[in-house]
Amino acid sequence: MEISDKVAVITGAASGIGLATAKLLAEKGAKVVVADYNNEAGEAAKQEIANSGAEAIFVDADVSKEEDVKKMIRSAVEQFGQVDIIFNNAGIGVQGMTHELSYEDYHKVIAINQDGVFFGSKYAVQEMLKTGGGVIINTASILGSVGEPTAFAYNASKGAVNLMTKSLALQYAKDNIRVNAIAPGYVESGMVNKESLGDYYDGLVAKHPIGRLGRPEEIASAVAFVVENDFVTGTTIMVDGGYTAQ
Ligand code: NAD
Repeated sequence: MEISDKVAVITGAASGIGLATAKLLAEKGAKVVVADYNNEAGEAAKQEIANSGAEAIFVDADVSKEEDVKKMIRSAVEQFGQVDIIFNNAGIGVQGMTHELSYEDYHKVIAINQDGVFFGSKYAVQEMLKTGGGVIINTASILGSVGEPTAFAYNASKGAVNLMTKSLALQYAKDNIRVNAIAPGYVESGMVNKESLGDYYDGLVAKHPIGRLGRPEEIASAVAFVVENDFVTGTTIMVDGGYTAQ
């Protein structure tokens, strides 16, 4: 699929992987819907993209709320006429051992990382069925495939994203809708950086055979690849510096 002139909705687009992807798709000629629940950063991201000459809008949406996601897709259609690409990317993590984890914290992770993919896919597919196809990309994680002792809810949510991706791909292949996930290793971002992680940061670096963490742009280029390659569907692409090869 050519990215130029397509309408792309990106959730969690105010920061990190989502922002890098919104910029790359805009650079490739897409009309971009920057969606995030961080109003200020989302507006700034939209402005930065618009300043580069691309068409962009910002929608304030919390992906864990079905009504917000419905509104996000409606805004995309009102502004640009259709939805060709959705990157269900917004996500959070909560650290801690399971015997001390509250249901509220557990469910917050599931609501954003997992329900967010359901809602985004549901309402994007409704539009894609009207226009003859599209591409869905979900952000999974290395932690959708390997366990991490202090990431019970996150592991659960990202494992679900991998299989939701396969289920959606099978359901809608005949409708010309492809669905893939990208599984990043640890990537420098709002969630992961030397400042917020302190000594733990060097330990994370050591887990990546390539000897460094990823960059948001390296995840964005994998998103562009699965959009552009018409034979890729139902898979999770690891972009992880060798983390899961061990
Ligand atoms: P980030 O914190 O830089 O960006 C996440 C963005 O999502 C933020 O702008 C935040 O405001 C937004 N967001 C969070 N909850 C939201 C909600 N309910 N509704 C709308 N927006 C919401 O982090 P990032 O690393 O770019 O994370 C993006 C995705 O990548 C997440 O799904 C994360 O789980 C995944 N991921 C990150 C890493 C990493 O190491 N950074 C590794 C693997 C997977």
